[in-house]
Amino acid sequence: MMGLSSLGAASLVGCSATGTSSIPPLAPLRMQAERITRITVCLRPFRAAGPRLDVETVANKRVVHNYGHGGSGWSLAWGSSTIAARRALEGGTRNIAVIGCGALGLTSALLLRRAGARVTIYTQERTPQTRSARATGTWSPDSRIAAADKVAPDFPALWEEMARTSYGIYQTYVGLPGEPVSWSDRFVLLDNAPAPVEPSTPQAEAVHFAGYGGRLLDMVPRYRELSAAENPFPVARVRHGTSMQFNVAALAHQLTTDFLLEGGRIETMTFHTPADLGRLREPVVVNCTGYGARALWKDETITPVRGQITWLAPQPEVRYGLYYHHVSVLPRPDGIVVQQTGGSEMFGYGIADETPDRREAETAIATIAELYARMPGRTLR
Ligand SMILES: Cc1cc2nc3c(=O)[nH]c(=O)nc-3n(C[C@H](O)[C@H](O)[C@H](O)COP(=O)(O)OP(=O)(O)OC[C@H]3O[C@@H](n4cnc5c(N)ncnc54)[C@H](O)[C@@H]3O)c2cc1C
Repeated sequence: MMGLSSLGAASLVGCSATGTSSIPPLAPLRMQAERITRITVCLRPFRAAGPRLDVETVANKRVVHNYGHGGSGWSLAWGSSTIAARRALEGGTRNIAVIGCGALGLTSALLLRRAGARVTIYTQERTPQTRSARATGTWSPDSRIAAADKVAPDFPALWEEMARTSYGIYQTYVGLPGEPVSWSDRFVLLDNAPAPVEPSTPQAEAVHFAGYGGRLLDMVPRYRELSAAENPFPVARVRHGTSMQFNVAALAHQLTTDFLLEGGRIETMTFHTPADLGRLREPVVVNCTGYGARALWKDETITPVRGQITWLAPQPEVRYGLYYHHVSVLPRPDGIVVQQTGGSEMFGYGIADETPDRREAETAIATIAELYARMPGRTLR
């Protein structure tokens, strides 16, 4: 506790001027570029109309689509896949193929298996090669899920159903070995001088991303602004709350293992055109190809939204995430996830380049390092 400034000291030790703080002591984040273990990039499959969930007949198969979940694929997976599984079972067939082994494919396959179907996943990639394995891992059910002015009138209610179903099922994964799903404290740090919003691509048209979070206020923990005495950070204002997180490596592993243990099968297979579905023995196919649907189904309504994660070596003692100057940090058992967000959901819009950008990574780390350099108590613990 030596050398703490009056600004940060009180809450870093867990006490406020008015008594016991609601904020526990915070272990400092170790933000140095030399702690970078890897940089990963993936593409959010954004569709202005929202995820595709319709049913069509292709190559004599009944195809149920389940793709295009933008930046919300993990968050909505169980809910979206519940709808897709119901539609897949509607014809009475119990012999079902699922294409894809990301968040949507795994949850669809598990739900169908648990409904008594014989299920095989056919996929080009599995964890950890899927794009789902490169997600941040936070509860973000309306992140780039749709454009508010391009959805069908019943989409907001459908979205709410998906979000509530997913949320409920994910609670049953909290506390399991490996922490596939957990809860963490989050701090949103606000300066008097907000950081400028970074430009997206010049060709990007303005998209009015839908925001439906208000529909879930009765379900999720609330955020609140900390009093000055409680604020552990050297910034003017802090909002604090608790959010659900997905420890994606453990979660994807658990879903895969459960599916296999429960009698599911996974086969490696690449489909080049929809006609390739004719090779499958199953009469019903659930299509969970994510961004891959753009090429396979020639679905150009999918727009890539690039996102990059910089991974730092894990810090098990850090149990909180923060957001500061458009950089988000999330502590996961497999590493500290650092992400430049640009301050707008347009950041990365229309960019399909999955090449890691070291400069973006180091800039994001420097932003958070600067914050901790202003906290004399950063050696606490
Ligand atoms: C940087 C970043 C951070 C994100 N963070 C979050 C987050 O915190 N929370 C959240 O909820 N969401 C997040 N997302 C969004 C989330 O990752 C996606 O919505 C989700 O991964 C989509 O899952 P999916 O199963 O549809 O697709 P994918 O994970 O891409 O899986 C598609 C599957 O289909 C297979 N496939 C594709 N084409 C073919 C083919 N032709 N033949 C055979 N197989 C094929 C692939 O091999 C793969 O197995 C993030 C996305 C990015 C880019």
